[in-house]
Amino acid sequence: MRKLVALTVLFVLIGIIIVPVLIVSNFKEAEKPPEIVETGEYNITVYFHETGETRVLPLDAYLVGVLAAEMPAEFEIEALKAQAVAARTYALRRLTLNADNSAHPEAAVCTNPNHCQAHMSSEEMKSRWGMINYFRYKSKMEEAVYSTKDMVLTYEGRLIEPVYHSTSNGKTENSEDVWLNKIPYLRSVESPWDKDSPRFQETKTLTLCQVDDALGTNLEALPASAMQGTNQEVIRVLETTGTNRIKKLNINGRTLMGTDVRAALGLNSTHFAWQLQGDRITFVTRGFGHGVGMSQYGANGMAKAGATYEEILKHYYTGVELEKLTQ
Ligand SMILES: [Zn+2]
Repeated sequence: MRKLVALTVLFVLIGIIIVPVLIVSNFKEAEKPPEIVETGEYNITVYFHETGETRVLPLDAYLVGVLAAEMPAEFEIEALKAQAVAARTYALRRLTLNADNSAHPEAAVCTNPNHCQAHMSSEEMKSRWGMINYFRYKSKMEEAVYSTKDMVLTYEGRLIEPVYHSTSNGKTENSEDVWLNKIPYLRSVESPWDKDSPRFQETKTLTLCQVDDALGTNLEALPASAMQGTNQEVIRVLETTGTNRIKKLNINGRTLMGTDVRAALGLNSTHFAWQLQGDRITFVTRGFGHGVGMSQYGANGMAKAGATYEEILKHYYTGVELEKLTQ
């Protein structure tokens, strides 16, 4: 009788504990993607332009900081994942293809958003977000980076130059309309989601003195009667791109490139209108950034509408492949 009880207890134990454990452990084994190749951990040398120091960071830890600095923390996770893949591709291109880093020869990348990619340290995240949001937002950024681990963008087998910007004017720009080269994957595409961006339209008023100083013009010498409305004698558009951005314009007799005027006057984009108002000019801009490649607010709009990070990336980078990097 005791033997029978002992045997029954043994079977119950096997049934309740051991069998489920075996099933679960088998499941875990089966859930691992079989094709994953351990790529190890890249390290990247980063030049911190604000402090002047150079530090070596694990690539993924660096990418979490880039994501925090480059994207609003409230953005959709699929948009953050798209940005993580773009930022990883950008960094690896500089690590592996000997891209020009003559501005900081000791480091592959810097933290200046106007040169490489912005970056936020954990301390900066804490002071910007507060302690409670710090844990919530940082783990969201980490999820975007680690769930896309080793994923990069390629075109014809090579890492792409995944440029991106905040907000387009409703369409992204062809690369050759902003820079010199025509890049096959940096083509103009529709981006209607950008209209919801807080940076979609902004106004900036400058004095004639400020404009003259920045552009080398002499608007202050013009009679007050000329400085009214959209007087074409004062400012005239000579050429626009296919997306209504200004390519070339004439200001008080000087012919200037739209990109140069944007940079010199600190305008949000090269899609701008203006009003002459006596001793000042008010510019109204559409979009924010150079307009080439992925629009970040567009990516968030696509994610809100249900797009995956892969769909977002393939929309903004024409003809690219999403690949898992192997060493
Ligand atoms: Zn740099």
